Amino acid sequence: MSDFLDHFFDWLPILEPRSRKRQRLMEAPFPEDWRAILHRNVPFWRAWTPERQAEAEPMIQAFAGEQAMTGAQGLELTEEMRVVISASAVRPVLRLGLDYYDHISEIVVYPFERLSVPGHGDRVLGVAHAHGVVVLSWPAVLRGLRDPNDGLDTALHEFVHILDLANGAMNGEPPLREPEHVNPWARVLGRRFEAMQDGARTPLRDYAAVNPAEFLAVSSEHFFERPAELRRKMPDLYRQLEQFYGWDPAG
Ligand SMILES: [Zn+2]
Repeated sequence: MSDFLDHFFDWLPILEPRSRKRQRLMEAPFPEDWRAILHRNVPFWRAWTPERQAEAEPMIQAFAGEQAMTGAQGLELTEEMRVVISASAVRPVLRLGLDYYDHISEIVVYPFERLSVPGHGDRVLGVAHAHGVVVLSWPAVLRGLRDPNDGLDTALHEFVHILDLANGAMNGEPPLREPEHVNPWARVLGRRFEAMQDGARTPLRDYAAVNPAEFLAVSSEHFFERPAELRRKMPDLYRQLEQFYGWDPAG
């Protein structure tokens, strides 16, 4: 019977449960040309240890295989784009797991540097919609990746909004690992956010003061791209992000 089911699912992948599909994707050998794509396009990947790369590869493969990605406005989505976007998505959930993205319905990729999005203006780099659609500008994704130490990464920013949304609200309070983490998280991020609204000078860019969701997305960009600076100047915030993301980019 289980033999039959194995083959049944091979023939009809559309009926395959997500957990089983994910496991199959994660267990498949990682394509060598995908490694070349990552080396070519993703500087943070080049800086990672082989151990961290090996940890991320199955997740990249699963994300690329299970998420619906489409090109818009004439953009033909290539394998290279899928792999690069998947690596960007995996970075923040490396230790959290892909379940944080189960509510993504579609990833739409545009060929323009700046997007015009109703309600978000006409100079937007990316959008994470509350119903799980992620909109990305491909040139902005590449530009965000190019300098891995500038604290700016569009794709990472949007995927942090999406993992923030995993408990139903994009509000700077993602599902934390333990119930006892909730109060310290709210206290530290709330205090730092309010201080920025009051004009406090921090290493974070001003956009962090827009609302708590943007504060989380911007401080996460800083956490992954300028960790030593964030740890030195905002150690309490760094500690919360390190506990949540489950690893220490400065270490
Ligand atoms: Zn944002």
